[in-house]
Amino acid sequence: MSAPSTCDVCGFRWADVTIEEIPSRLEQAIRSFVQVITSAGLEVARRPSPTRWSILEYGGHLRDVLISIRERIITAAILDAPTGVAMNRDERVSLGLYQHDTPADVAGELSTMTNLFVKTLTSLSAPALLRHLTYSPASPYEVTILWAAAQAVHEAEHHLDDVKQNVALLA
Ligand SMILES: [Zn+2]
Repeated sequence: MSAPSTCDVCGFRWADVTIEEIPSRLEQAIRSFVQVITSAGLEVARRPSPTRWSILEYGGHLRDVLISIRERIITAAILDAPTGVAMNRDERVSLGLYQHDTPADVAGELSTMTNLFVKTLTSLSAPALLRHLTYSPASPYEVTILWAAAQAVHEAEHHLDDVKQNVALLA
């Protein structure tokens, strides 16, 4: 299955992202995200509506996204055309796996995971970036490592929009 070219919600276009800009775009989105977490006060853990996560839950999700995509990238750098492991994002929340997350934890973990992600990505050779993988069983897109890295930027920028909307909705 081919991957979508544009996000219906935020307008992100994967093909427009170059490898050179991925580290700085990711770091900038994560810095802004951490700023939202640290300035949200008690609202950080509040859901504006039953259908939205709290800022802290979005942060836990984004941390796990970075862990998950980094593992997909490492696996695809080693194995030929592997299938990434599905995240099961909603189950992580409904099982209570984020209940011990504090704002300070999540802010630090997001920064640490961004550093790890960028170190891994910038260690790969140019040919390695074009190696193939199936993104996940839930989203069986045939993509390259470069696409997966752009997807990390998308997740960070998309969920930065989400938490900014939470701030507005809770004001
Ligand atoms: Zn999006």
